[in-house]
Amino acid sequence: MGRTSKGNQKPGRSLGCPGGMGYDMEFKSYASSSKGNLHTLSDGRETILIECGLSIKEIKKALGFGLSGISFCLLTHGHADHSKAAKDIMKAGIDIYTSQGTIDALGLHGHRAHAIQAGVQFTSGNWIVLPVEAQHDAPEPLAFLIYNRRTRERMLFATDTFYLKNIFAGLNIIAVECNYAADILAENVAAGRIPAELKKRLMRSHFELSNVKKFLQANDLGRVKAVHLLHLSEGNSNAERFKREVQSIVGKPVYVAAERS
Ligand SMILES: [Zn+2]
Ligand SMILES: [Zn+2]
Repeated sequence: MGRTSKGNQKPGRSLGCPGGMGYDMEFKSYASSSKGNLHTLSDGRETILIECGLSIKEIKKALGFGLSGISFCLLTHGHADHSKAAKDIMKAGIDIYTSQGTIDALGLHGHRAHAIQAGVQFTSGNWIVLPVEAQHDAPEPLAFLIYNRRTRERMLFATDTFYLKNIFAGLNIIAVECNYAADILAENVAAGRIPAELKKRLMRSHFELSNVKKFLQANDLGRVKAVHLLHLSEGNSNAERFKREVQSIVGKPVYVAAERS
């Protein structure tokens, strides 16, 4: 499992220099919505899971190769669409790194559950991960700044957060939630398709298109090679429009993660 080291770090600092050694980080999204979330990130040798919000059977099927090649799992928060298989993942011998709030909420026990906290980075294998505070209606939700020592690349993974306090330098891949557009949501509420209560919850728990654009513009995008938009709302989003609008801001390829692939 590699050694673990801890220390206080500011996001974007002391995580090595991007530069590349001829290998690229590969981010893959297998499921991304309120019905389930599952992603992998690989450096060509080590593959990690990000989220495990499908049944263990579905996860094994989606990955094709089962779980034997997975180094560990990062988990943002305890909602079932992200954490459904957490206990089964641990039973399969894979360590999970998540906040103490999520560990408590899910009742995770044993040496496979590692409590991490925002602002305190840890190292496992080729990966250096800095957990970052997320803003969501779950106990102690996290986003992740993930650096790989082999590829010397850096990815931000942030979902189920209605904004992010931090900005980041030298990102190569950005995977960020883009849940809904305020105007589509307003139309749906006016037409009675969405209860006003749900609108309130969405505004305080999920990332809205114009806020995502503002967040991206606040960051240094010079080294970004791809932006992945995650966790689109079924009724309050428009994948084509989100992709087009974000692409015009970042000037880099933008991919919309499918609900299921
Ligand atoms: Zn979710
Ligand atoms: Zn959630």
